[in-house]
Amino acid sequence: MPLLVMKFGGTSVADLARIENAAKKVQAEVARGYDVIVIVSAMSGETNRMVGYVEGTSKLYDAREYDAVVSSGENVTAGLMALRLQEMDIPARSWQGWQVPINTTSAHGSARFIDIPRANIDAKFAEGFKVAVVAGFQGLSPEGRITTLGRGGSDTTAVAFAAAFGAERCDIYTDVDGIYTTDPRIASKARKLDKIAFEEMLELASLGAKVLQTRSVELAMRYKVRLRVLSSFEDTDENSGTLVCDEDEIMESKVVSGVAYSRDEAKMTLVTVEDRPGVASAIFGPLADAGVNVDMIVQNISEKNYGTHSGAVTDMTFSVPVNQVARAQKAMEEARAAGIIMYDELISDTDVAKVSVVGIGMRSQVGVAARMFKALAAENINIKVIATSEIKISVLIDRRYMELAVQALHDCFELDKA
Ligand code: ADP
Ligand code: ASP
Ligand code: MG
Repeated sequence: MPLLVMKFGGTSVADLARIENAAKKVQAEVARGYDVIVIVSAMSGETNRMVGYVEGTSKLYDAREYDAVVSSGENVTAGLMALRLQEMDIPARSWQGWQVPINTTSAHGSARFIDIPRANIDAKFAEGFKVAVVAGFQGLSPEGRITTLGRGGSDTTAVAFAAAFGAERCDIYTDVDGIYTTDPRIASKARKLDKIAFEEMLELASLGAKVLQTRSVELAMRYKVRLRVLSSFEDTDENSGTLVCDEDEIMESKVVSGVAYSRDEAKMTLVTVEDRPGVASAIFGPLADAGVNVDMIVQNISEKNYGTHSGAVTDMTFSVPVNQVARAQKAMEEARAAGIIMYDELISDTDVAKVSVVGIGMRSQVGVAARMFKALAAENINIKVIATSEIKISVLIDRRYMELAVQALHDCFELDKA
């Protein structure tokens, strides 16, 4: 039997009526002759609610218990989806991550797949079941504990199942009808793309476009999964939505193809650290050990000697997700107390956002950064940190200018025009 993976995100299973709506889409594919693996997210808002419970109980919580709590939303929707399909006379069974089992590493909160043995689900298909409903986002650690794959992780569950079961396609049903040049909720001029290259989607996702979890794009690229994003609220067919595919399948080529943003950033500066070999390692080692996800890094060499230091000093600025500021501060204070690093002050700015432009065309075009900075200057937006790579340029700015910056960049690179 040909097999499809269909993933429904939080808004697509937000209540019983929407679960029924999603089930009808599954029913249509079963009628076309497919066996289907359905991956479900928690009802929208549920995971956030549970994260709130955890943070309200323990500030520097034990990540194993975080996973035990926040993974539970998916159990509800998986069972309900199976029940709804049964009501439609479709033989369906639900699976929690540990029952499959979806074996992952024990990196709680951001676990990675080790393997997904097919035997249990294959046996059910062999018995005549048409649909396996699997709770997204969850896994099982080697220690036998429940893990989660990081926020938005159901996308990654879907792609991993598509790869493991050799699915014809992996369809990600969500609350927008495809992938746009930027978040259509922020820029009304955003334009839907028919296709987008894996590399570009990978950058957009890792820079904040939450329409797909970064890791899902990585897996799809590696295992050549045909990955599609489409609406769960509209009538859809095999040409709907946006296909994520290889670069050479794409006709359209622009220098910049998308703008991404990430709202929840923080900028931290260690003031007057010593300027000597090993200092960066003394700072970022303890941060990594504390599980802090450092993104942009800037070191400003200071030619002056000042503060309490006898030798040359420098300031080290880096960005972290805003919810990891407390963890980062603790790691730095402990490293200072242990004599691993010296600094006079740690300044945290929690009101920043990151805005990025992405495009494979940047590889062969000069002047993209200049155009970007000019557009931001025209809106009087101050740039705090800049980072570039082969196909992206990111800036850290005040959060209150984020939407304005996204719109200005979308206009500047004429992304509304095909
Ligand atoms: P789900 O709950 O279905 O997983 P998400 O909220 O995680 O849905 O992702 C869909 C959202 O991603 C959209 O509602 C949209 O606001 C946002 N988004 C951000 N960037 C883009 C983009 N470039 N194209 C489409 N949607 C985007
Ligand atoms: N429910 C999880 C989250 O909100 C996983 C997902 O929706 O993909 O992050
Ligand atoms: Mg999502």
